[in-house]
Amino acid sequence: MNEVEGLSNQECERLKERIETLEKELGQKNVAVAALERANRQLEDKIRASEATEAPAPLTELEETLKRLVFRVAMILQAEKCVFMLFDKDSGDLVAAKPAFGLADEEVRSFRVRATQGVSGEVFREQKPVILYDAMNDPRTVKEKVGLLNIMNGLCVPLVIEKRDEDTNRVLESKTIGVLHVFNKRDGNVFIQEDVNLLTRLSKNAASVIASAQMYREILEEKEELESIIESVYAGLVMINKSGKVMQMNASARSMLGINDPEVVGKAYQDIVNYEPVLDILKTSLDESTEVAEEVSISLREDEEKIYQVQSALVRGDDQQPIGVVAIFNDITEIRSIDRMKTAFVSTVSHELRTPLTSIKGFISTLLQDEDGTFYDFDMKREFYTIIDTECDRLTRLISDLLNVSRIEAGRALDLNPKPVTLTTLIEKVVSVQKSYTNKHELVIDIQSELPTIVADEDKVDQILTNLTNNAIKYSPEGGKVTISATRYGERVRMCVSDQGMGIPKEHLPKVFDRFHRVDNRDTRRVGGTGIGLYLVKHLVEAHGGKIWVDSEVGKGSKFIFELPKCPPQFEAEQEQMIGAGQHSGHMQPGMAPPMGSVNN
Ligand code: ADP
Repeated sequence: MNEVEGLSNQECERLKERIETLEKELGQKNVAVAALERANRQLEDKIRASEATEAPAPLTELEETLKRLVFRVAMILQAEKCVFMLFDKDSGDLVAAKPAFGLADEEVRSFRVRATQGVSGEVFREQKPVILYDAMNDPRTVKEKVGLLNIMNGLCVPLVIEKRDEDTNRVLESKTIGVLHVFNKRDGNVFIQEDVNLLTRLSKNAASVIASAQMYREILEEKEELESIIESVYAGLVMINKSGKVMQMNASARSMLGINDPEVVGKAYQDIVNYEPVLDILKTSLDESTEVAEEVSISLREDEEKIYQVQSALVRGDDQQPIGVVAIFNDITEIRSIDRMKTAFVSTVSHELRTPLTSIKGFISTLLQDEDGTFYDFDMKREFYTIIDTECDRLTRLISDLLNVSRIEAGRALDLNPKPVTLTTLIEKVVSVQKSYTNKHELVIDIQSELPTIVADEDKVDQILTNLTNNAIKYSPEGGKVTISATRYGERVRMCVSDQGMGIPKEHLPKVFDRFHRVDNRDTRRVGGTGIGLYLVKHLVEAHGGKIWVDSEVGKGSKFIFELPKCPPQFEAEQEQMIGAGQHSGHMQPGMAPPMGSVNN
């Protein structure tokens, strides 16, 4: 008999019995713990095995977080399956998030319900946990999902994030971002209230971890989106931190500055940028914390100069202190060249207007001085009047050209007044007018084949031929032969105005049809012009559905070749009618062979 001091025998007996009971319970608990540990080990093995067979796609930050969480929750709650369902605000669905525990990715993908549906929806809306004792027969469950995911029982709690007052710890704002499910309690048990308390506590923690991972992902996505926008913008962009390291330099900036190395981030800007003016702008901005706006010119190639408007701005931190500089490069080469061309144009147009006006004024004054009309004889007066008439024509042509340019600029197509045109007659007319302006040139008409009657705007075709012939004469100051040829070319008529004049330098050939473009050299400067003639000619040809091009060699001469269709495409429907009318009225002689020949000066 055990005797303990101060205790009666009876009390000793009861104590001994109690100790024996506790020892027995402890033994049972140890067995249960060992069983649990075994189960955990099996689960871990299972996870490792499943991981080994899974495609080794790298997990995102959020997926890593979820993987850790579902494993831990399933272990603690002794559940066979555990999955988070997150609310997708775009679709209004609760969507199972990958990876889940005890569910294959395929099953996770199919697990998606409306936020108004099933137990998940109820928990999400009501922000209250739900225990499922018998999932299949519970009226709240979506049976299809229960069957598909092999769910017997479960527990679902809301994922709530709370914003609390720092001093009072009072909840200021709460938001449900989804629900957390555990399914199938191990060893045939069901989830009980204690599990609810435990999972609710775990879910709070998990919700805030998931919310920050989601926020991190959103920020990362926004950053990537921003970077790709910056990379693809047309303007060049360079970002430099306070210590002069490049933080960002987009593709446009690299190409503008002739940098081939795409890995420029982290390098000192002085090691990358080669252009003094750009270095100066960046240095001034960084050193003096000022914003600079300047135009810089950069020539990456000998024959190409680019002009950029560079604008630097300070980047400030939260405390408003400068933390770096951003510089934006805009290509203004075209704008500057148009500016230059416009200035040159205004001065040449003024000159072109003044020259005939001076001449007109001079001859009229001369005639007026002869008060009784006897000083100049009839022939002399006639010559004066002819010059005045010619100069007036020149002014009219110039003004009409200017009006046409502004019409094209305003986006208004040149209106055509189509009718049947006998090209031979028209060519002869143009040549005879141009002949009167020169006695140095030999003007030759060369019509190789029988020309078809074409439907065109006669005045405009006249303008095309006049302009080209006039240029041919103007740009062969030493004289020579100017040939106007025409030939049938399939369904089209091809015409060519060639000369033996100064020719056009190769680099100007692609630009001669541009507005205001003039070849500027010693030879051309002696010849007047505005640089709008060929621009108009091209538009007139194209308005007829035709095309024009040039072939030229310096010192040898130029050939301007253009083709017109038998009828501008927009008038094809009326073509027959027009040609018929032309035949009856006697204006047209379709298909008649024009006389071959030449008109000599
Ligand atoms: P412009 O009024 O200056 O003659 P155009 O538009 O008719 O304007 O011609 C543009 C430029 O093309 C001219 O300035 C001249 O340099 C060049 N050009 C045009 N025609 C000829 C030609 N037949 N021969 C040489 N150069 C020409």
